[in-house]
Amino acid sequence: MLAPSSGNPVYLDYNASAPLYAGAFDMASEVANYTGNPSSVHKNGRVLRCFMEDARQKMGDLLAVDAKNIIFTSGATEANNLALKNFKGTVLTSAIEHDSIFHVRPDAVVIRVLETGILDINHLTHLLDSMNSGPILVSVMAVNNETGVIQPVEQIAEICAHYKVLFHCDAVQAFGRVPLPWHKFHAVSLSGHKVGGLWGAGCLVASNDFPMTPLFVGGGQERSHRSGTENVTGIVSMAYAMEKAIQEDWQAAEKLRDNMEQALLEKMNTIKIFGHNQPRVCNTSSIYMPNVKSETQVMAFDLAGISISSGAACSSGKVKPSRILKAMGASDNEAQNTIRVSLCPTTSQKEIDLFLETWFSIFDKINRGNHGPTH
Ligand code: PMP
Repeated sequence: MLAPSSGNPVYLDYNASAPLYAGAFDMASEVANYTGNPSSVHKNGRVLRCFMEDARQKMGDLLAVDAKNIIFTSGATEANNLALKNFKGTVLTSAIEHDSIFHVRPDAVVIRVLETGILDINHLTHLLDSMNSGPILVSVMAVNNETGVIQPVEQIAEICAHYKVLFHCDAVQAFGRVPLPWHKFHAVSLSGHKVGGLWGAGCLVASNDFPMTPLFVGGGQERSHRSGTENVTGIVSMAYAMEKAIQEDWQAAEKLRDNMEQALLEKMNTIKIFGHNQPRVCNTSSIYMPNVKSETQVMAFDLAGISISSGAACSSGKVKPSRILKAMGASDNEAQNTIRVSLCPTTSQKEIDLFLETWFSIFDKINRGNHGPTH
């Protein structure tokens, strides 16, 4: 992974974008030496197509799916839209999906989650029992981006198979951190920059029986499922990154994350960690700090040279109470005062020490006087 040479020295925002692998960048640079369009028939076009098809094959091998079923997109937002937006039938989705699922189909039936952050399977089966006709598509994410809570997607895929309905999985936050039975899903969304590739490339892996109506029409690229010249540099970097990402050793980061949470919980009984003691990805922590808005925390950490995230920042940078935490039963106060910390495989003890020191100093500054000594 490229060591951060610009920006904040401490990067604890892996779930927003993973650090770029140096090799992924080199791969993209090599491809960018060729001028041309991967659809052109001349030599340059053929070489570029070759790079792209090699990447597709590599990704197919990594996922153990037929490479032909991979449709390149600009990222997971587009892949999610491609899967859901034009689906002719009923869509069921969970209350904790990313906005690129949650807002795509305002007519979607929302499946509840439990306080644990895990999908309420009984509610899903109850909904499926109550639906009598027409095509149905269930879309549930594999790992939540804010809390890191792992969803029982294999079980959900089996339930969908039993009811003979389609299952789409947004696996953006799972790839490289949670092994999944990719072949059991009718469709899967992935994103390159979430695993150490360049921004602007992703894919929808869709089985032959997954119905799709394109979002764009034009030159008929990607077997007419997604017209528009492919982002070849992004695609090759994504394939490279995926291969690297599955080899990452997350054990050290998981231990750091667990010790960090322990240090907070031991000293503070007024805080909360969402998804604590639930099946979670190894690198994510969703931490509620009483009386301090998440945007204030994000800014204070930024000033200390640490990049973290408020779970629910949108592109304008504005922060609203987290819809995800609310769906898990959090109060408005909790949903507004929670940050997301997501470690990288290379995160060090020193960085976590600095994080903790900064966290306690932000807490003290705001809460001193309110609650007496805190630690
Ligand atoms: N789904 C999930 C779970 C995500 O975390 C994100 C990125 N925050 C997306 C979809 C969108 O991915 P992209 O940035 O590739 O559009």
